[in-house]
Amino acid sequence: MPYFISGVTADHQNLIARTPAQFKSMNDIDVKTRHRVMAIDPAGHTVTVRDLQTGHEYLEGYTRLLISTGAEAFVPPSRARSWRACSLFAGSPTPCE
Ligand SMILES: Cc1cc2nc3c(=O)[nH]c(=O)nc-3n(C[C@H](O)[C@H](O)[C@H](O)COP(=O)(O)OP(=O)(O)OC[C@H]3O[C@@H](n4cnc5c(N)ncnc54)[C@H](O)[C@@H]3O)c2cc1C
Repeated sequence: MPYFISGVTADHQNLIARTPAQFKSMNDIDVKTRHRVMAIDPAGHTVTVRDLQTGHEYLEGYTRLLISTGAEAFVPPSRARSWRACSLFAGSPTPCE
């Protein structure tokens, strides 16, 4: 993101290190973008997945599950939280306040 905003590159495609197709061809990994895991059933070894483009939900089985959902930015108490120019760079798109 900093490279795009600062103008190092004008094409955001240059910032994609590896596409889903490359994950498949290089590592045999199926990458599903715009899909959200809605629920986990540890006993049944399944996750409920929603296709965010169609709204369709389905079960996906797993042998082992690695949860790596990232993190939300921590905003410490500060007067800056009320500044209109203050917003988070990742996570919630809402202003800090
Ligand atoms: C502006 C910025 C610049 C950075 N620059 C650098 C850098 O130059 N070098 C560096 O080493 N690090 C950098 N970092 C840090 C780096 O991006 C993070 O440490 C890293 O991305 C964390 O990886 P992660 O897999 O834990 O989480 P993420 O990359 O946040 O991935 C988590 C993914 O899980 C998905 N997810 C969440 N919930 C669900 C769900 N229910 N179902 C399906 N998917 C879900 C999210 O959509 C997301 O795609 C930067 C971070 C930021 C914000």
